[in-house]
Amino acid sequence: MVSEQGHWGMPVGKPLEEAVVQEFAANLRGELIRPEDGGYDATRAVFNGMIDKRPAMIVRCAGTADVIQGVNFARTHDLLLSVHAGGHSVAGNAVSDGGLMLDLSPMKGIRVDPARRIAQAQAGLTLGEFDHETQVFELATTLGVVSMTGIAGLTLGGGLGWLNGKHGLACDNLISADVVTADGRLLTARDEENEDLFWGVRGGGGNFGVVTSFEYQLHPVGSVLGGGLRYSAAEARDFLRFYHEFASTCPDELSTAASLGHDPDGRVVVGVAVCYCGPIETGERVLHPLRTFGSPLEDSIQPMSYQTLQSAPDGVDPAATAFRHRDEHYDFLILSQWADPSDSEENIQWTRALFDAMQPFFEAGVYVNNLGEEGEDRVKEAYGEHYERLVALKDKYDPTNLFRFNQNVKPAAQSGAPS
Ligand SMILES: Cc1cc2nc3c(=O)[nH]c(=O)nc-3n(C[C@H](O)[C@H](O)[C@H](O)COP(=O)(O)OP(=O)(O)OC[C@H]3O[C@@H](n4cnc5c(N)ncnc54)[C@H](O)[C@@H]3O)c2cc1C
Repeated sequence: MVSEQGHWGMPVGKPLEEAVVQEFAANLRGELIRPEDGGYDATRAVFNGMIDKRPAMIVRCAGTADVIQGVNFARTHDLLLSVHAGGHSVAGNAVSDGGLMLDLSPMKGIRVDPARRIAQAQAGLTLGEFDHETQVFELATTLGVVSMTGIAGLTLGGGLGWLNGKHGLACDNLISADVVTADGRLLTARDEENEDLFWGVRGGGGNFGVVTSFEYQLHPVGSVLGGGLRYSAAEARDFLRFYHEFASTCPDELSTAASLGHDPDGRVVVGVAVCYCGPIETGERVLHPLRTFGSPLEDSIQPMSYQTLQSAPDGVDPAATAFRHRDEHYDFLILSQWADPSDSEENIQWTRALFDAMQPFFEAGVYVNNLGEEGEDRVKEAYGEHYERLVALKDKYDPTNLFRFNQNVKPAAQSGAPS
């Protein structure tokens, strides 16, 4: 027998008979893993080490058929469904307590068409795996900056990366997506087909179904000018003022990320990482003012392959996809990471204090892929004026909110319910 816990801490569905579970397992091409099985702990582990959730069942999906079986099983037996692709959800939403987890990570098929500059990629690929297959042709699309992140969650939330300025977000490069909806159908979403769903999966996260495959537009990207500069704390204020002016005038080919942190010796430093994805000589000229400012402790900017670097949107219509933040200039992120669980309290405290102190400088809004477990109002902030349109889409494609273990957009009938 299996008992389940709901998203709101409530039991969901009736306990399942063993024979029902066995029949489900027999209909899968991939493996069904339960707590008593080998590999259970490794499969439920996610990037965020503070998440220690124990699903009742994990389906290691071998393909789309397993995803359809899993969605139908979860719906029929009223199980809390979570979707795991790259496992890098900040909130740890890939895995739930007591639910059914669809593990897409075995689905790593990819077909690159270098002549048409298109890649068809299954949802279990990480960024590094995707880049590996496209870079052999000196092609790439916008993805994030940490190679172990999943292409799926990243693209469904928007997808910020080094090629943003020149080529838009990851979701802007999506040509189509294959989506298993709550009723177990497989739909193709693209400009000319299920276009409302196509709008929703480009920024709306996993709210409308399980995407099994993504088709991306690729761009010629070979060597880039990448690396970073580092300054001492004494120069931080002047450098950041200068950086603000520099960043507001730099061309689309240049993406930058400034940070405050500690160097390996524990000293406070300010850094800026860069990627120039146009001709190297032009990049050298563009970066000259930044590299000659003050007295950097370190300058590691040099030509490198885009794939080596991979370990601000332009004139896109803000309403063209569910992703909303096309006009804000900066994405502010506090990277608070630690290895020892006994350091959790201290780190959470300084992170929250810094976040509170920065509030007066923020515009309203948050990138959905940066959200932890922060409640319904923050999800609304992530989508702003797009939220009502997402609710209408939810009413159409997932009226019972089967896909709720995510940064959830609730159907109209459930809005106001506790999150
Ligand atoms: C170390 C680190 C670096 C990051 N760097 C960047 C960055 O450079 N740029 C950026 O934009 N973001 C970045 N992020 C945020 C990242 O985009 C999100 O955490 C994203 O959700 C991760 O996707 P995933 O597939 O790895 O995660 P998962 O935890 O597997 O999935 C996250 C959620 O997405 C949904 N989902 C995933 N796959 C599917 C699917 N196939 N169908 C339907 N729903 C699905 C589910 O709701 C799931 O819970 C980073 C996060 C981390 C932890």
